[in-house]
Amino acid sequence: MRGTSMADIGSYNEKLVLQMIRSAPGGMSQSQVVRGSGLSRQTVSLIARRLLQEGLIETAGQRISGPGKPSTTLQAVADSRWTIGLHVDPAYLTIVICDLQGNAVDTTILAAPSEDSAADIARIAAEIERLCTRHGAVKIHDAPASAPAPAPAPAPGAGTGTGADGADGRAALQDPPRRVVLGIGVAAPAPLDSASGVILDPPWLPSWHGVPVVAQLEAATGLPVLLDKDTNAALTGEIWAGHLPTEETILYLYLSHGVGSAVSANGRVHRGGSTQAGEIGHLPTGVADEICSCGRHGCLNLFAGARRMIERAIAAGMDICAEDVPASVDAIAAAAQRGESSALAAVERHLAAVIAALDILSRIHDPQRIIVGGPVLSALLPLAAPRIRAGTPDWLDRSGCTLHFSELGNAAGAIGAACLFLEEELSPGRG
Ligand SMILES: [Zn+2]
Repeated sequence: MRGTSMADIGSYNEKLVLQMIRSAPGGMSQSQVVRGSGLSRQTVSLIARRLLQEGLIETAGQRISGPGKPSTTLQAVADSRWTIGLHVDPAYLTIVICDLQGNAVDTTILAAPSEDSAADIARIAAEIERLCTRHGAVKIHDAPASAPAPAPAPAPGAGTGTGADGADGRAALQDPPRRVVLGIGVAAPAPLDSASGVILDPPWLPSWHGVPVVAQLEAATGLPVLLDKDTNAALTGEIWAGHLPTEETILYLYLSHGVGSAVSANGRVHRGGSTQAGEIGHLPTGVADEICSCGRHGCLNLFAGARRMIERAIAAGMDICAEDVPASVDAIAAAAQRGESSALAAVERHLAAVIAALDILSRIHDPQRIIVGGPVLSALLPLAAPRIRAGTPDWLDRSGCTLHFSELGNAAGAIGAACLFLEEELSPGRG
C-alpha cells in the first residue's frame, strides 16, 4: 500500500498504547490503558515513558476514578506528528496538513488536474513544500534522531495498585520533536491499485490513467506515500474526525462526479480483495427507462452521478456548462432552491436514486450509522437532507440506524487520506 516504512513509532505494543490514548477524546489514564490493552502495568509504564520522551503524548491533569490516589491523564500531542492528505478529484486537487488527531491544520485547493499529470505532481510537491515551510514542519527523514529508549528499570508506581500511574513527564526530553511530517496519504477515484500505488483508469481523469502516483510523489517529496480510494478515505476521515464508536457498522455514500460507497466495521474500512469494494455505479435501481453502458437497465450511475444531473438540467432548459461540474452543481442547487422546475426535477431524480441506493445497501450491510457526503451532497445539502431523511425507509429507523450528513465538506477526501496514513502508521503489527 505504500513505499518506505516509517520507523518513528516503534513496537506493536507502543502503537497499541498510542492508538488507545489518541482515539480517546479526552485521553485516558495509565490504569485505563492497562485494563484496555491487557498489557502489564510495568509494560505500559515503560511504553508511556518512551512516548512521553518522544513527545507523542503528554500528561494532562489528574482524574479520580475509584479508590486509590488520582491517576494522571495521558493525551496524544496533536502537533507532535503530522501527515499530508491529497485528494485527486476531477474537479480539484485538495491538499491538507493534518495533526496526530486527524484535524486539518491547513488546507489548499489547487486547480483541477490538467492534461499533464507530471506537471500536476510537480505543483502538488511544490505546494506540500510551501505548506511545510509555512508551518515550520519537518519531514521525517530530516527530523532530529529519536530519544534513546528509557533504561529498563522498574517504573514508579509499577505493580503498586490501582490508580498508581507512573508516567509523569519528568522523564521527557526538554524539546521533543514537533510537527514531524510522517508521510502522504493520497485519495483518488477508483479503479486504482493500492498495492502498487497506481491510479488505473478512472472516468473523468484521463491524463492520470496508469500514473504511478505513489512512486512519483515519493520521488518528488522524499516522503513515504500511500494510495487508497476516495470513498475509503472519506469514511476514515469521518471516523477519525467524529471519534465515532469503532464497534459500529457504518455505511458511507459519497456523491461526486459519480457515486461510490464504503463500509466500515470495528473502525476499519472494508476494501475487498482488490480495493474495489463499494463500487456501486452499476447497482440496479429498478428504474428501467435507460440502458447503461454495461448493457443493463437502470444502473445507479445513470441517475446519481453529478454529470447526469447536469445533463438533465441542461435538457430541461438550464443554461449551464456540462464540463464545469462544481459550478453547474452550484447553479442547479441555487435554481432548485429558488423553485425553478427544471432544476428541481433534475435534483429530485438524483436524490430519488440516492435514496434507492441507500435502501439496497442498508439491506446488504445492516449499518448502525449511515453518513452521506461528498461535494455534490455539500452543494445540495439544504434540499438533500430533508428529502433523504423523508425517503429513508421505515424499517431502517426501526432497526436503530441513524442517518447523518458529512460536516467535513469538500476536504473530506484529503483529510481522510491523511488519516489513512496515520492509521497505517499507528496500527499495531504494521510498518
Ligand atoms: Zn451498468
